[in-house]
Amino acid sequence: MRSILIAVVLVLGFCVQGEARSLEKQYIVVHHTATPPHIKRFEKAECDAAHRQVGYDECGYNFLVDREGVVHPARSLDKPGAHSQGIHNYDGIGISFVLDGRVEEPSDFAIEAFRSLSNQLRGLYGNLKIIGHGKQYGGTGNTLCPTDAVWERVKSL
Ligand SMILES: [Zn+2]
Repeated sequence: MRSILIAVVLVLGFCVQGEARSLEKQYIVVHHTATPPHIKRFEKAECDAAHRQVGYDECGYNFLVDREGVVHPARSLDKPGAHSQGIHNYDGIGISFVLDGRVEEPSDFAIEAFRSLSNQLRGLYGNLKIIGHGKQYGGTGNTLCPTDAVWERVKSL
């Protein structure tokens, strides 16, 4: 019995290490927060609170880009993300526009901030491919996120 337990612990340990190794970034995964237009502030603290309500330990995105074009660092890149089904929580950097992509598109300020952030990340991680969360945008999720209104503005950046 004891040896079985030890074997299980070793296998779990290997899996965790395997996940850690696969954090090498290949993608920028674009999202929107679905924050309604009347809510102006949605930074890391607000994202933490919202995502804890759905069972995450903190904000699942690595960065938030607000409507004024301010980039807010959120989840550390040293741990798997919680923003994208399948492998992209590991090899993707989750960037979420703070807006509701169903009723608004990113401002020019937000697009410029996204472009600048993407360029900086590419300087650190190499040529990251920009994809969206949903399958229709190159991602893996069964979701309308980040919506056409967002995707049309970022897909060629
Ligand atoms: Zn998303």
